[in-house]
Amino acid sequence: EAKKLGGDRAVLFNLEMNDRLVHRLEMKNHLRKAIDQEELTVFYQPIYHLESQQIVGCEALLRWDSSIYGSVSPATFIPLAEETGLIVAIGKYVLKEACRNWKSLQKVGYDHLFVSVNVSAIQFQSVTFIDEIKAILHEYAVPPNLFHLELTESTMLQNIDRAIETLGKLKQLGVKVAIDDFGTGYSSLSYLKNLPISTLKVDKSFVQSLESGSADLAIVQSVITVAQGLNLETVAEGVETLEQQLLLEELNCSLAQGYYVAKPMPLDALLEWLKAYEISRLTKNS
Ligand code: C2E
Ligand code: MG
Ligand code: MG
Ligand code: MG
Repeated sequence: EAKKLGGDRAVLFNLEMNDRLVHRLEMKNHLRKAIDQEELTVFYQPIYHLESQQIVGCEALLRWDSSIYGSVSPATFIPLAEETGLIVAIGKYVLKEACRNWKSLQKVGYDHLFVSVNVSAIQFQSVTFIDEIKAILHEYAVPPNLFHLELTESTMLQNIDRAIETLGKLKQLGVKVAIDDFGTGYSSLSYLKNLPISTLKVDKSFVQSLESGSADLAIVQSVITVAQGLNLETVAEGVETLEQQLLLEELNCSLAQGYYVAKPMPLDALLEWLKAYEISRLTKNS
C-alpha cells in the first residue's frame, strides 16, 4: 500500500516538474519580446547617508510588467534571462536607461546623485563589457564617479583573475563597484583584499533581523569592521524599521536603503519623492 502511494507521488512530482519546465519555457518566450513590447522598466530606490540622512544616490531595479503574467519579480525573470542569454540585451537596456534617467535627474538639479546598476555574470564576463560601459557613459555624459555597478561574489569568483583585470579597468574609468548581497556567498574573506572594489552591500537577510544582542548584529558589525579596515564603504540594504536604522548608525555603517525610507519607484515618482523628502528633512532639522 505504502509503495503504491509512493509511486503515485513520484508520478505527481514528475508532472509538476514538467509543468514547471513548460511554464518556464513559455515565460522565456514572452521575456524575449518584453523589451520590444516595452514591458520592461527601471525603478529606482533611494540610497541615503545614515548620519546626515541625505539622499546620495539610487539603485536601478528592473521591473517586468507582462501582459500575460502581470508583474514578475526579477528574482524569477533574471535567472530566465541568464539561462537564455537574453540578459545581454536586457542588461544593456538597463545600463542605457539608468544613464538616460540620470540625465533627467541632473537636468532638475540632482547632479550629485549616483546611480547604481546590477550586473549579471554573463554581462560582466563579456569581452565587450568595458567598451559598452565607456560608450554609454560617453553618450549620456554621465560622470563615471556617479555611476556604480553591483556584482555578486559568485560573479567575481567565477574567474577571479579576469575579474580583477576587469575591475581594474573600471577603477581606471572612475566607475565604483560594489559587492552585492555580501555575506551570503561561500567565499573566504582573503580574496577581498585583492579586488579593486569600493563598496560592500550588506545583504538584507542580515539587516532584517537586526536586534540588540542578535547573531545578525554580530555579523553586520564584523562586515563593517572588515570594510573599514579595507577602506571600503558599506551600504545596508533592506532597512525596514527605525530600530534597524539606529543600530546601523551605531555600527558606523555609512549608507542604507530600504522600505523604511522608500521603496523602489519609477523615475517620475522619484523626482516628486526627492522634492518632498528634502523639504521634510529641512523642516525636521530647523
Ligand atoms: P538586489 O540587487 O540585492 O536588490 C535589492 C532588493 O531588495 C530589491 O529587490 C529591492 O526591491 C529589495 N528591497 C529593498 N529594500 C527592501 C526592504 O526594506 N525590504 C525588502 N523586503 N526588500 C527590499 P528586487 O527589486 O525584487 O530585485 C531582486 C534582485 O533582482 C536584485 O537584488 C538583483 O539581484 C536582481 N535585479 C534587479 N534588477 C536587476 C537588473 O537590472 N539586472 C540584474 N542583473 N539583476 C537585477
Ligand atoms: Mg543590488
Ligand atoms: Mg543586494
Ligand atoms: Mg539581495
